[in-house]
Amino acid sequence: MKRKSTKLMALIISVLMLTALLPTVAFAAVDDIQITNVSATIAVPVAGENPAFTVTSDVNSEYIVRVWRWRQNYITPSVDLPPSSTFTAGASYSVWLEFVPQSGYKFFDINSLDVSPMYNQVRENVNVIVNGQSLDLYSFTAGGQTVTVQTTNNGIIICKIAFTAICEHDYSIDETIPPTCTEQGYTTYTCSICGNSYVDEDSYVPALGHEYIDDPDSADYIVPTCTEPGFMPAKCSVCGEPGEGYELAAIGHNWNRGVVTVKPTAHAEGEKLFTCKNCGETYSIVLPKLTVNGLSADAFVEKLNGNKNSLTITITELVSKAGSDKQTEATYTETFSINNNAAGIYEVGPYSVYVDTKGNTQIREIYIVE
Ligand SMILES: [Zn+2]
Ligand SMILES: [Zn+2]
Ligand SMILES: [Zn+2]
Repeated sequence: MKRKSTKLMALIISVLMLTALLPTVAFAAVDDIQITNVSATIAVPVAGENPAFTVTSDVNSEYIVRVWRWRQNYITPSVDLPPSSTFTAGASYSVWLEFVPQSGYKFFDINSLDVSPMYNQVRENVNVIVNGQSLDLYSFTAGGQTVTVQTTNNGIIICKIAFTAICEHDYSIDETIPPTCTEQGYTTYTCSICGNSYVDEDSYVPALGHEYIDDPDSADYIVPTCTEPGFMPAKCSVCGEPGEGYELAAIGHNWNRGVVTVKPTAHAEGEKLFTCKNCGETYSIVLPKLTVNGLSADAFVEKLNGNKNSLTITITELVSKAGSDKQTEATYTETFSINNNAAGIYEVGPYSVYVDTKGNTQIREIYIVE
């Protein structure tokens, strides 16, 4: 409207001047001042920040450039972003830059690259150059962008550029995972603005490894016996993972001191029985015959009825175990029924003894028959 008003005013003034027969050269010269390039630098929207509505470093006396609107793309219905809104990381936004010639200036044809009109103020033959490159895709994702427009426009130019908001990230520790027996530990950092997270490679802590201990509660536990080996399973004291375990040696018999079940004599071997206190297993050894170191025979007669008497013979051995000095007595005693004045050989234990008696009570002779 302002532009039209200016032209209208210029026309009126020209008519007035013609009417006054004044020269018109000075006015024509002002209208001929032509702008061939306009440029602006606009920053990429940063997540969490407010949209900027001013453009840096390109306001001069020939034209004005300003941000006309920010909008978030792919939102229906689309609404202009208020200055108090903030950009969201990853979202796509469009900015409309408006170039307005100052009074007395107009844009002039330099280039004929066509840009699709986006608004009714945008005329044909607009060439948008961003960072020195002609573009017909108005989309950027990073870095400050210098936008230059070359045009044949004679009025306001509006060009639209699309950006994806970047996040400058504000990372803090989100989660610290301690190491386990088998997994390494690490720390995760997350951006409070966009939620992006990463694992700090310097934070890795090696896995701890298993801490194996004996596991006698395991079903695989085998108690060793006197003769058979056992097995001690292993498990990790932290996570319970089974380990290899190891064999338990057979414990061997635990024999008692032995019990003499058959006492040895000078005439027969004895036997000693040993029993394992653990399992009850037994074995026996032969006790050798005793050594006879001395031998004596004694007898007495008792009178019974009539000419019947009782003869009692005792053989006394002085015996010792082989290799021992300790002597003990072993006796064999037998009683026989005899008549008066009997004489004969009697079997007493392993011995044969000759006894000659006199009357009812006396022993006349006694000796062991070899
Ligand atoms: Zn971020
Ligand atoms: Zn473990
Ligand atoms: Zn045993």
